[in-house]
Amino acid sequence: MAVTRTFSIIKPDATRRNLTGAVTKMLEDAGLRVVASKRIHMTREQAEGFYAVHKERPFYGELCDFMTSGPVVVQVLEGEDAVKRNRDVMGATNPADAAEGTIRKTYAESIEANSVHGSDSDENAATEIRFFFSDDELVG
Ligand code: GDP
Repeated sequence: MAVTRTFSIIKPDATRRNLTGAVTKMLEDAGLRVVASKRIHMTREQAEGFYAVHKERPFYGELCDFMTSGPVVVQVLEGEDAVKRNRDVMGATNPADAAEGTIRKTYAESIEANSVHGSDSDENAATEIRFFFSDDELVG
C-alpha cells in the first residue's frame, strides 16, 4: 500500500470544545502523521471557495456560516492509503450513522457540526492541500 497524503480540517465545533489534541490523537492512533498544521479563522471567501462543490446544496449557506463561526485547524496527513484511512477513522457524515470508535461518533454534535473534514479522493486531497498550504509548509 502506497504512502499518500490527505487534507483534514478540525472544525469549529471541535476547536470550541478544546478537542484539537483529542481529535489529532485519534488521527495519529489510526496511523496518520501530521505533516502540516495551522490554526486559522477562515474568511467567508475561503469557506465559499473551499465548499464551492456544494454550492447547489440547500445547506451551503449554513455550512459556510458554520465553518467561519470560529477557528479551525487545517492539516495535511500522511500515511498508507491516507484518504481511506482518514475517512474510516472520521466515520459517517451524520454522527447518528457513524460507527463506534470513529471521531464523529465520539465527538460530533450534528450532521453539520461533525468535528472533522477529510478529502474523499487523492485528486481532491491534492486540490484541497494546495488551497491552504504552500509546498514549503509541508514537512514530512
Ligand atoms: P463529508 O465528506 O462526510 O464531510 O460530507 P459531505 O461532503 O456530504 O458534506 C460536507 C459537509 O457539509 C459535512 O461534513 C457537514 O459539515 C455538512 N453537511 C452535510 N450534509 C448536511 C446537511 O444535510 N445539513 C447541514 N446543515 N450540513 C450538512
